[in-house]
Amino acid sequence: MATIRATCGECGDVVLTAADVRVLLCTHDNSASYTFRCPGCRLMVVKAARGRTVDLLVASGVAMSSWDYPAELREPRGAGGPITHDELLDFHRFLVDDARFTEALTALEGGRH
Ligand SMILES: [Zn+2]
Repeated sequence: MATIRATCGECGDVVLTAADVRVLLCTHDNSASYTFRCPGCRLMVVKAARGRTVDLLVASGVAMSSWDYPAELREPRGAGGPITHDELLDFHRFLVDDARFTEALTALEGGRH
């Protein structure tokens, strides 16, 4: 198995195998990083990686996984002011009204199928 040389901020240069390293690709902006647990200090190390480094790591057998920002970050913002006392009271009444609360939960469950 190919050896991979990387740098830990605490320990300096370390030698790893492909199984020790993981490439992480952000599908939102196509940025990449790689991560490993340092064999010296056992801390997780994350480093930004450019295309050529990613290609070399993957060609060496390093596993790659993709991720994206949570969908909530793409929700529109600013459509309403701060929560008022009246809205808080309405929410409290909603929470203590078992029938309305159950109805809302049922509607949520139905929306997921
Ligand atoms: Zn270390």
